[in-house]
Amino acid sequence: MNPRSIRVRLSLWYSGVLGLLLVTFSVATYLGLERYLTSVLRQSVISQAREVVPLFSHLDNKDEQREIVELRAHYAPEASNRFLRVRRDTGSVIYVSGVPKDQSFDPAEVPSAQPPLVEESTQDVFLSGGKRLLVHAIPFETRDGRRLIIEAGATYAQVDNVTSNVWMIFAFSLPLFMVVAVAGGYALTRRALRPIDEITRRAEQITSQNLSERLPAPKTNDEVERLSVALNRMIERLERAFESIHRFSADASHELRTPLTILRGELELVAQRRDLSPAIGETISSALEEIDRLTKITESLLVISRLDAGESGHESQEFNLAELARVTTEQMTFLASEKEIELCCDTPVSAQIHGNPLRIKQVLVNLLDNAIKYTPEKGKIKVAVAVANGCVTLEVADDGPGINTASLPHIFERFYRVDKARTRKFGGVGLGLSIAKSICVAHGGNIKVESAEGQGSRFSVHLPAAVTRSHSAKHQDGPDSHPAIHCQSNELSQTYPKK
Ligand code: ADP
Repeated sequence: MNPRSIRVRLSLWYSGVLGLLLVTFSVATYLGLERYLTSVLRQSVISQAREVVPLFSHLDNKDEQREIVELRAHYAPEASNRFLRVRRDTGSVIYVSGVPKDQSFDPAEVPSAQPPLVEESTQDVFLSGGKRLLVHAIPFETRDGRRLIIEAGATYAQVDNVTSNVWMIFAFSLPLFMVVAVAGGYALTRRALRPIDEITRRAEQITSQNLSERLPAPKTNDEVERLSVALNRMIERLERAFESIHRFSADASHELRTPLTILRGELELVAQRRDLSPAIGETISSALEEIDRLTKITESLLVISRLDAGESGHESQEFNLAELARVTTEQMTFLASEKEIELCCDTPVSAQIHGNPLRIKQVLVNLLDNAIKYTPEKGKIKVAVAVANGCVTLEVADDGPGINTASLPHIFERFYRVDKARTRKFGGVGLGLSIAKSICVAHGGNIKVESAEGQGSRFSVHLPAAVTRSHSAKHQDGPDSHPAIHCQSNELSQTYPKK
């Protein structure tokens, strides 16, 4: 879990605020309830004390004992766990209730309110063992002028009982609420952010090859919809910019071809003249070489701009790559024989793929052309095709000079040449491999290179096998294998012994 993600931060904020609210609510409820129960208890002891006052206020000294008997029978404070005491203001006790039924306190322990007591008062009285009693005292005068004090009291046991129960309920339910709230909040934010995940996933799939695709824009009229719409507008602008770049490159390359052809023709005419001095003849032949290079560059740029515009899929068809490899290798044998290079081909009977055969042939020609160009005389070049796991692999391996480690990551970049002087000598312009890569990507495949300086190079092209496979391809794959759409592996790396 990433603690800095919106999901986690939102959940933490939400849970923090909710937790604070719940704790405040619980404390307020607890304090309110305690206050209310205490006030109910107070009202009850006050009214009990006030009920007893009239019994004594109209009596003479001689009737006291009769009234006490009445009091015991009528109120029975012990049965209701209450405390009741009648005493003279001199301190002598006329009546005190006995030990309550629940034995919660000892009435003998309850201290007297300190005289002079002139008006009613309520106070908390603390007894041994931390017990608390709420006692209400009423001083009054009897008919014969004696001053008596009635004290009625009750323990806080019931209040404490209820409040501690409520406290327990809060203590158990609060963490439970919090866990449910955090989990619920996390799930809710996850759900709320899911459209963004979907937008991100789809945005990741958009490349220069499929700029016509758009992101999903949920009709929610909120930030997610605005984000998606804004990104779609940006992709639209990019699509238009890419289109105009492609059109410009294609137009420029196309427009350059005609004047170059004319220039070449005219220079060739001049070169045929007999009255030319050797120096001018040499200049013309050097100019013709440069025109060749320029023509090669413009043609390559035209190919690249067409590929970037997604042209390769236009003439797509199912064909046998093994057959194409055999024929192309055959055709290139003449070029290899000039340097006495041994060129061999190892292919299965059939390796069906879907694509533009002319473009795939161009990949093989570019790879073979490089291999023949850079491999020294009497060298060896091997072409191989194999089918495995729904993937067709084409390899071109040579035992030429190889490519140094620093250059390897760049050789598929446009106009990249390892050794400019050497490449120029061979007529290379640094576009052959980038064209090969663009063709492979446009066919849903990829191209890789394994090389080390002085140890030759091996280029591997991986392409998805055609879904309807020929009998031979089935034979190679095995009866249970399924054709895959994307090729990522280097299945053919075992075809050659490791260099
Ligand atoms: P170029 O048209 O210059 O050959 P590429 O794009 O085909 O351009 O190749 C890029 C660079 O990769 C070349 O300049 C060359 O140095 C290197 N390279 C390509 N293929 C091979 C090979 N088979 N052996 C050695 N170096 C190679």
